[in-house]
Amino acid sequence: MSSKDCLFCRILAGEIPADIIYESDTAIAFRDINPQASTHVLIIPRKHIATINALDESDAQQVGELFLAAKQVASQEGVAERGYRVVMNCNAGAGQTVFHLHLHLLGGRDLSWPPG
Ligand code: AMP
Ligand code: ZN
Repeated sequence: MSSKDCLFCRILAGEIPADIIYESDTAIAFRDINPQASTHVLIIPRKHIATINALDESDAQQVGELFLAAKQVASQEGVAERGYRVVMNCNAGAGQTVFHLHLHLLGGRDLSWPPG
């Protein structure tokens, strides 16, 4: 998929509005349009990568920076101490609907385990 067809690349390009709450050289974070918890933020790399399966060795730093962004977002959202979850769905069988890598950060309520 080219970036012009990708929803999250279009958010990155400013073509589609989003409530962006964090930006770095390599990643941005914005609020999920259909939140599943009082804090539900998506953290995405600026680089278009469709799924975990498409990662290669050169993406290792990029992926690490998504988690550092998650740490920062959890702190600024006030959920770091109580606890939060980060989830990355891979492919349709796991519920992935947008094929641009993204971490979900969920917090602000008790989260059960295992997930559905
Ligand atoms: P996934 O199902 O893991 O691929 O997650 C995709 C997420 O993107 C879902 O939680 C959607 O609610 C969210 N989403 C879809 N469109 C938008 C949008 N325009 N702005 C913010 N979040 C979106
Ligand atoms: Zn994309």
